[in-house]
Amino acid sequence: TTELAHVEAQIVEIPDYPQPGVIFRDVMPVLSDGEALRTVAKALLAPFAGQFDVVAGIEARGFLLAGAAATVANVGLVPIRKAGKLPRPAASVPYQLEYGTEEVEIQRDIAPGTRVLVMDDVLATGGTIAAAIELVRKIDALPTGIAVLMELDGLGGREALGDGLPLHTLFHG
Ligand code: IMP
Repeated sequence: TTELAHVEAQIVEIPDYPQPGVIFRDVMPVLSDGEALRTVAKALLAPFAGQFDVVAGIEARGFLLAGAAATVANVGLVPIRKAGKLPRPAASVPYQLEYGTEEVEIQRDIAPGTRVLVMDDVLATGGTIAAAIELVRKIDALPTGIAVLMELDGLGGREALGDGLPLHTLFHG
């Protein structure tokens, strides 16, 4: 739609961030525009109507999108955090980064069987979202879909996630 094309134009490419040779996609201008934020929240949810009970957002920009989307959908929000930030006992899943490892955690704040839509800003290699999905399963909740603002083609994210869950991405970079 023209609305989404207008949103896409607000994503800024930052060369050599956070490292030389990498182009960072800065989606924050989309979030700071009220119309754009509402448009993406609705568009991220559109294919999943009736298929989720909560939205899980991945720290940190995923929180922001998931918060907006959860409000639009009138459901709750569950944070998936980097390790060591949650106050109560949490399930955790380690995953590989290009250099070193990362770990994500979730608290058991949702009942077993709760249907979860997993949301983040950018899909690159897919490691973060794969870990988030594993985490949701680890607390016996049920991931039903993945919604991401921007998919970076050519980094293998979509392939890494496989075809087990529907993956909805609004933009490609
Ligand atoms: P992946 O695990 O390689 O798929 O990387 C995805 C994670 O890194 C997401 O949580 C993103 O927030 C972050 N990320 C990777 N590249 C970018 C980018 O260009 N812009 C914003 N976030 C990014």
